[in-house]
Amino acid sequence: MLELRPVCENCNKALPPNSREARICSYECTYCGSCVDGVLGNVCPNCGGGFVPRPIRPAKNWKGDHCLIKDPASSKVRHRPVDPEAHAQFAARIRSIPPEQR
Ligand SMILES: [Zn+2]
Ligand SMILES: [Zn+2]
Repeated sequence: MLELRPVCENCNKALPPNSREARICSYECTYCGSCVDGVLGNVCPNCGGGFVPRPIRPAKNWKGDHCLIKDPASSKVRHRPVDPEAHAQFAARIRSIPPEQR
């Protein structure tokens, strides 16, 4: 199940489970949209993959107990800010490779 992490791992901004700003990579590394578009350049600093908007998990039990009441968001903060210069070099190298060849 997708881990709904509570904050942007770069800037520590709160990203509650209903946030439209949350972005995730395929490993669930979680950042806010402004960090993804700005300092990260849509390259995950942990794995080199790209980001998509994190889906909003339903707050209400619309069907089959698949909701936040049964499966709450994580409270484990992972705040590990990137070094902007080092990441810019890493991201430039990744972006020079076609996505399907990364
Ligand atoms: Zn952020
Ligand atoms: Zn990642």
